[in-house]
Amino acid sequence: MAGGDAVSDRVRRSLVETLYTQPLSMALGALCGITAAGTSAWVSGDRHLWIGAALLALIAAIRISMAVWLAKHQDPGKARRDELLYEAGAFSYSITLGMIAGMTFLLHVPSPLQTLMAVNAVGYGAGICARNAGRPAIAIGQLFLSNLPVIVALILVGTLPFYALTLTIVLLLPAMTSICLKLFALLRRSVEAAETSADLAEKMKKFARTDVVTNLANRAGLNHDLAAMQAALPPDRKLALCWIDLDRFKEVNDILGHQVGDRVLAEVAARLAAQAPPGATVARFGGDEFIIAAEVHGRAESEDLARILLEDVTRPIRVEGERLTIGASMGIGLMPDDGADLDTLMQSADLALYHAKSNGRNQLRFFDPAMTRDLVRRKEIEAELRLAIQRDELSIFFQPIVDLDTGRIRTFEALVRWFHPIKGELRPDEFIPVAEETGVIITLGNWITAQATRIAATWPEEVTIAVNLSPLQIKAPGAALGILNALKDAKLDPRRLELEVTESLFLDENENTARFIDELASYGVRFALDDFGTGYSSLGYINKFPFKKIKVDRSFVSGANVGKKSDAIIRAVAEMGTTLEMDIVAEGLETIEQVRAVRAAGCTLGQGYYFSRAVPDYLAAMLLAQERDEDAPGKLVC
Ligand code: C2E
Ligand code: CA
Ligand code: CA
Repeated sequence: MAGGDAVSDRVRRSLVETLYTQPLSMALGALCGITAAGTSAWVSGDRHLWIGAALLALIAAIRISMAVWLAKHQDPGKARRDELLYEAGAFSYSITLGMIAGMTFLLHVPSPLQTLMAVNAVGYGAGICARNAGRPAIAIGQLFLSNLPVIVALILVGTLPFYALTLTIVLLLPAMTSICLKLFALLRRSVEAAETSADLAEKMKKFARTDVVTNLANRAGLNHDLAAMQAALPPDRKLALCWIDLDRFKEVNDILGHQVGDRVLAEVAARLAAQAPPGATVARFGGDEFIIAAEVHGRAESEDLARILLEDVTRPIRVEGERLTIGASMGIGLMPDDGADLDTLMQSADLALYHAKSNGRNQLRFFDPAMTRDLVRRKEIEAELRLAIQRDELSIFFQPIVDLDTGRIRTFEALVRWFHPIKGELRPDEFIPVAEETGVIITLGNWITAQATRIAATWPEEVTIAVNLSPLQIKAPGAALGILNALKDAKLDPRRLELEVTESLFLDENENTARFIDELASYGVRFALDDFGTGYSSLGYINKFPFKKIKVDRSFVSGANVGKKSDAIIRAVAEMGTTLEMDIVAEGLETIEQVRAVRAAGCTLGQGYYFSRAVPDYLAAMLLAQERDEDAPGKLVC
């Protein structure tokens, strides 16, 4: 029946609702009709009119109760059914009213009754056109059904005033039809406009919660979803929050470009979404971090899920012909165990992630309360480190690096020590990473270089000083100039300074790194590659930069994993050192056997507790003086 007026389902629903929104107007209309019909029947005493009035009352009663029921039991999916029910009721009421009005003329009842009924039927038809304009086919149908019987009766009776009345009613029909259609168009436009803006608002909301690169939820979406998950979490379940960080994703971006980076992120997102259990939230937290939250029975289930996710993410990815393998670290927190609220849960998972990363990456870690204690300690260190320099709590210790042939000290490595008034001696492994993260390393590093060069200037000329440099120090503006100034202030020949750098420096290598190394090398400063074997051990760096020394990490010399393999590695590195005329230092020598072994393997220099621990400057000076006194180097010869 909707025929001509094709409207979208949602708009139709809104318009159908307008039919039922005012049961009161329907009741009032029915009351008028029934009163008029009842009055006509009663005054005229005509049996037909009594039947008509009763029928009208019955239809009205059914319709009103239906309208009241439907108002309470709205079902958006049943708009079409509601519309048909309304239509049936409306049409039967209209035709009954029209017939009663027509009958008053045919039965020649007193003219006031005819007027009463004619006015009722015509007025009803006109009024309904406005009331039901939301569904014009119904409204116009009602108009015609209530008016046509009157017109037919008037023509049949056939007196002049009735002809005139017929004409009036006939003219009223197109006029009311047109008004109804206009009103409908207006109604539809406004409902559509409201629908469009509601749609738009819905889309904007979705857009604001979605990450464009991966199509996953973004931070806002995550917050929204997590709140919903928390609210729906049954008491016997836990909410597992897995926080994933891709390892070395920055390299992908830097080397292969942002487009490839975005493709990698999208692929990772797709894999996570595919592996996440139904009902889980998968979100990109920003950068290369993702969060998956899922309802689990316990820790074991979350661990299984985490492993599946990690395994899938770290499968090789094919992008533009390149086969990339991306590592990933994951921190996991459980609600309520590790956080009764979302903020604490996030902090716990973040902290677990931090530990997974600092523990060597490519692994997953569950939150552990000890991590919070660690964090507190780190925060304390962070707060106190800046003051430590001013309070004179730091000092530099020196550890000899010995010539394995002659047993003489060739170099001292400067190693910083922090004597905290309450915490006691702090290891650099504990505070250097904090200094690096907070940027304090730049001030600290400058101080160390200044102190170390000043002390080295007091040693015999053939003894050099090795200073450890963090990547951040090298990347700081004016880094090379700072070191040259320190040398100048200390009056130390640049050739007596050695800078130890690790491979991590070259991970996000930029021109500044090369410029720094080249500039200082041109003054005679030497470079040593520290902790060799723990990182990538890419021989590319050795070739590209003027290293004079390679320090083989102590894990190859002492420790649990020393064996045939590490021996072969030391041999290979030593061989390379001979070819490239570089010194190879074995770190961490603790026993005479180790010293013999690395010497036999071809290392030229050695460092470790076997020779000496790191000692304060006056003891370093004593070691040197002792060496000069004794012509023969004594126990150092092996
Ligand atoms: P590193 O550069 O590898 O320094 C050698 C570390 O090995 C030192 O630890 C040293 O005490 C230790 N060591 C030396 N011989 C032996 C041995 O025979 N056995 C064992 N088990 N260990 C030995 P330390 O002083 O705790 O320094 C740890 C790390 O902290 C250093 O590793 C270095 O990466 C960093 N660091 C120390 N001082 C500085 C500094 O002044 N600046 C910067 N940027 N980093 C520093
Ligand atoms: Ca070092
Ligand atoms: Ca080292």
